[in-house]
Amino acid sequence: MSSKKKEKRKWLDEYVQYGYTCITEHDGSQRPNCINCNAKLSNSSLAPAKLRKHYPKLHGD
Ligand SMILES: [Zn+2]
Repeated sequence: MSSKKKEKRKWLDEYVQYGYTCITEHDGSQRPNCINCNAKLSNSSLAPAKLRKHYPKLHGD
């Protein structure tokens, strides 16, 4: 096991504006779910910069 403490990011309602909904996994961790392509991003993607990146990359701008 790693000794590094894994910080879990938390969903914020304002992330809705980036085009995502929130999925809560069985372990309680939250993940963003793209409403455009239904892609589930990782918990570490719960940050505005990362949420924004998905769109130009997968959906054009
Ligand atoms: Zn998408």
